Amino acid sequence: MKYVSEFRDKDRFNKLLQQIEQEADPSRDYHFMEFCGGHTHAIFRYGIAQRLPKHVEMVHGPGCPVCVMPSGRIDQAIALAHDPRVILCSYGDMLRVPGSGRNSLLKAKGEGADVRMVYSVMDALAIAEQNPEREVVFFAIGFETTTPPTALAIKTAQQRELKNFSVLCNHLLTPPAIRHILESPEVRELGTVSIDGFLGPSHVSTIIGCQPYQYFVEEYQKPVVVTGFEPVDLLQGILMLIRQHNQGIFEVENQYRRGVTELGNVKAQMLMAECFEMRTRFNWRGLGDIPYSALRIRSEFAEFDAELRFSLEEPVSREHKACQCGAILRGVKKPKDCKIFGKACTPETPVGPCMVSSEGACSAYYHFGPIEVQVVEK
Ligand code: SF4
Repeated sequence: MKYVSEFRDKDRFNKLLQQIEQEADPSRDYHFMEFCGGHTHAIFRYGIAQRLPKHVEMVHGPGCPVCVMPSGRIDQAIALAHDPRVILCSYGDMLRVPGSGRNSLLKAKGEGADVRMVYSVMDALAIAEQNPEREVVFFAIGFETTTPPTALAIKTAQQRELKNFSVLCNHLLTPPAIRHILESPEVRELGTVSIDGFLGPSHVSTIIGCQPYQYFVEEYQKPVVVTGFEPVDLLQGILMLIRQHNQGIFEVENQYRRGVTELGNVKAQMLMAECFEMRTRFNWRGLGDIPYSALRIRSEFAEFDAELRFSLEEPVSREHKACQCGAILRGVKKPKDCKIFGKACTPETPVGPCMVSSEGACSAYYHFGPIEVQVVEK
């Protein structure tokens, strides 16, 4: 268990907490946004939120691809799933996320649509090979981490001359979303969300590297620390942000040197560039339109683009009026500020995506809010 147990070591964990207490100046407040929902869950699961000094606050960001998928795109997938020619494949989380009017792919499945949960895009490819008489559509979501496998599947489908496989591409890009948050009126003008630095997701950075974050430290003067998902990783990352903030410096630092390099995985980046190009804009759930923040399939692979194959139009999204996911994703509100949190909206009866996704902030609060630390003992 090397590379896991040492990053859950209780002594190291407690020592880092002590260092944070010593170095976080009590005369100032620290607000750090963890962009990624995986970080949000780890922060709660390991009791970090409860153990940090009161003046060190973690602000939860929008980094969960399920949470930011607009309801219109889910409606699009549901409509496709109801087409009797189609087998609609996607990851498990995505099946339960409500589209407009609390419909979901899981409900569509209950109504007879052929919706299948897959663990990877290659599973969808295999389903296409096994069902040549059906149209197999992979509902692709995710940030830079899951994009290279989708690109590989498209290339494989082309090589194998698969005629019944296509991808409904909803891959998103991390840096434009961070830029959007920093430029939003709430952060820039109103001051309702203070952000003194960012924890960058290590899994995304294994692909894109540290370099893209250089822009933020130069343009917005906010430190960024790329950090892993284990408790010791997270506390180290927070300590590194505190140190930068104390010294008034803004740098990109890499806590996750064991997996992330400056330039990232160039081979994966080339694969992505070969198969995808930028959309001029994409409507993120809760964040609105963000220019050049998502990918679509290049014309060279048009035959595998479900939007073209099924002549899909730009979807319109209608969110549930009571749902506060938009404010939560921008860090303006906390899940418990939503009036229906834990009442009308629970993991069994989700109203918004933040309660469904395994990386959603509402789900983290619901499952882990009050629990104790679960750090592995030596
Ligand atoms: S509790 Fe439910 S409805 Fe409220 S913000 Fe969270 S997901 Fe949306």
